[in-house]
Amino acid sequence: MEDCIFCKIIGKEIPSEFVYEDDEIVAFNDIHPKANHHVLIVPRKHIPTINDLNEDEKDEVLVGKMMLVARNIAKERGLSGYNLQFNVGESAGQIIFHIHLHLISNG
Ligand code: AMP
Ligand code: ZN
Repeated sequence: MEDCIFCKIIGKEIPSEFVYEDDEIVAFNDIHPKANHHVLIVPRKHIPTINDLNEDEKDEVLVGKMMLVARNIAKERGLSGYNLQFNVGESAGQIIFHIHLHLISNG
């Protein structure tokens, strides 16, 4: 997807260090962290918002995998608690229209 900053990060057009990657999902640190740990879990597939999930393409499975990636990162880091958040739509504060799960924790 042209002009999508997360597609550019995934396509390595914009440099970013992945803290996790597989064939479907990448994770990298948020550029403006809201806590000691603030990781964005992002599918390689361009889906603008949670409202655009397509059951015919099994997107719900992809979202489930994103949750597991977040859980695994939290576990690896020994986080005692964390918040997982999807912002959906401009009025809810979504600024990047390529779905991403925020993993936020102070440890
Ligand atoms: P949202 O408000 O849910 O759309 O969140 C977008 C998040 O992406 C914000 O927390 C931004 O700080 C973060 N962000 C924007 N550009 C970058 C970037 N180049 N690398 C990492 N995080 C970014
Ligand atoms: Zn994209």
